Amino acid sequence: MEAERSAIEAMLPVGAIGGSGGHVEYGGMKEPAGTAHAAPDAPGRRYDLDRREVTELLADQPQYRVSQLWHGLYARLAEPAELTELPQVLRARLSTEPALAPSLGLSSETLTDQGRTLKWLWSLSGGAMVETVLMHYPDRSTVCVSTQAGCAMGCGFCATGQAGFTRHLSTGEIVEQVVAAARSCRHGQPPRRLTNVVFMGMGEPLANFPRVWGAIERLHTDLGLSARHLTVSTVGVVPGIRSLATKALPVGLAVSLHAANDALRDRLVPLNRRWPLASLMDACHTWREATGRRLSFEWALIDQVNDSASDAAQLADWARPLHAHVNLIPLNATPGWPTVATPPDGIRAFARALADHGVNATVRRNRGTDIDAACGQLAARTATAPALVAD
Ligand code: SAH
Ligand code: SF4
Repeated sequence: MEAERSAIEAMLPVGAIGGSGGHVEYGGMKEPAGTAHAAPDAPGRRYDLDRREVTELLADQPQYRVSQLWHGLYARLAEPAELTELPQVLRARLSTEPALAPSLGLSSETLTDQGRTLKWLWSLSGGAMVETVLMHYPDRSTVCVSTQAGCAMGCGFCATGQAGFTRHLSTGEIVEQVVAAARSCRHGQPPRRLTNVVFMGMGEPLANFPRVWGAIERLHTDLGLSARHLTVSTVGVVPGIRSLATKALPVGLAVSLHAANDALRDRLVPLNRRWPLASLMDACHTWREATGRRLSFEWALIDQVNDSASDAAQLADWARPLHAHVNLIPLNATPGWPTVATPPDGIRAFARALADHGVNATVRRNRGTDIDAACGQLAARTATAPALVAD
């Protein structure tokens, strides 16, 4: 465990985890005490506050005002200024209260797929930009949220990885993305209900474990989303997967595999050098036994890199014992990496080969590719989301 902890610390950028003194440990990572919900360089705001902090904010008010405000934020998805059940003076005070200010500033909103896909680009305190994508399907609405501004994991094919790490998102910054999506669903024509959340936006969720977990608890307890409808996607942070296996809320797990032998995976996904396939699969087995949930493998098909018959056979050898479902995604080409997606025939052949080896696979169509994706991952994320939520 000690080895795993220092390994993950080594992977993270300076300042991404706590410095000296007063640490609590969480998911194999060290965090500065008392900052479980706040990002180090982001002020805790509206959806960062817990109930005790909201109570403190309303210390001069009758107790029931706390419930009214909490209900307003989480059930009504309202701005403090919209809470007409509060006395006007209090409403005015709360709508200018810095601690209740939103942490996401809308930079742009883009609609595509005849209104079925929406992308928001947000600016955060400090100037970092992150995006959120909401996708409507006949039977559900799924939001894909970012967990970090940038990412330290350095996967070469990924635009976020190419950009490097800026900072963790706070619990409130993650929750607020979901609230924005839920609000958009509720006010849509016709109104809909947000049903699913995938942690598949910018960043590596399990490298920001405490804040991501804080968001998961908030989404479950206060926004009323079922744990079965929340899915975390990871590139393979083994201590984080092991930590998920110990949690009472059985959220879904998608592992971005992309390669089924260490030589290739070391090249595509640098984190593999820390936690090679054998240790990753061991953690996946532990997670599966603990949660009883179905695991997904994500596989971005890259022309002549990971799309051969032997790649399919090796992938099947890992997937079969785990009963894992494979999501095949044509690579979304990025400026920083000179490869292209496997052509459609090759994708079909790869899927057939997996089926012949007894593995279920789904090819994901690219939804929303006509949106200019700030992080360059939109196609992949929108493409994979449906499979991640289909239990
Ligand atoms: N860091 C997490 C979650 C965010 S990335 C993870 O890696 O799982 C979300 C998904 O997009 C991952 O499956 C990732 O491998 C995939 N992805 C990133 N860049 C891509 C690209 N250029 N084309 C296709 N999929 C990509
Ligand atoms: Fe980070 Fe995921 Fe992109 Fe890899 S694929 S760089 S882990 S966001």
